[in-house]
Amino acid sequence: MNSSSTIHQLRETLIEWGRDNLRVYPWRETREPYHILLAEVLLHRTRADQVVPIYHRVLERYPTVHALAAAQLEDLADLLRSLGLHWRVPLLLEMAREVVSRFGGDIPASVEMLRTLPGIGLYIAAATSCFAFDRPEPILDTNTVRVLGRLFRLDVQESSRKSRKFRTIMAELLDRDRPRLFNLALLDLAALICTPAMPACHRCPLQSICLYGSQYATAK
Ligand code: SF4
Repeated sequence: MNSSSTIHQLRETLIEWGRDNLRVYPWRETREPYHILLAEVLLHRTRADQVVPIYHRVLERYPTVHALAAAQLEDLADLLRSLGLHWRVPLLLEMAREVVSRFGGDIPASVEMLRTLPGIGLYIAAATSCFAFDRPEPILDTNTVRVLGRLFRLDVQESSRKSRKFRTIMAELLDRDRPRLFNLALLDLAALICTPAMPACHRCPLQSICLYGSQYATAK
């Protein structure tokens, strides 16, 4: 559906924008797989600004996955209490214990192996595989799918982030040489510019190749 020149332009423009505009978070300053996997678990349905202090506190108390695996459930629950979603506490502990017992404490790099861990769904597995190991994994959530839908005028449903069609398109667009930068830039463009209610097309770097954005420019 997309010409190779459009895909090339989209990748270059998005990554260029990302170089100057990526949001700064502590889990983006590291390539330590344990830190990144922990952050992705904490970020599940939780705002990043809420996660930052808890992320630091968990790592201070449990600096390695071995330390986390040895944690007491009640202590971990206390640390994570302010984030809500209490069901993830035992899953996080179980996940750490399985990483130690099955993988010797090494976080697996592949989406397939990550998904065998307790509480790790496709999004967290893909994000960890990409951000910690630089693997070319498409990242689909409500936000990235929204951008995709607007770029190519696709009908977006709640189920689209799980659809094969959107996954195939995202995999086609993904810059396989710079997957981490590409995915971070797309996530941040969705959060900062291509927002749900009021996309700021007038300051979007992708406007000239976006079907929704071109409409906006024509209507002005
Ligand atoms: S031009 Fe507008 S609709 Fe298209 S990606 Fe940018 S912000 Fe979203």
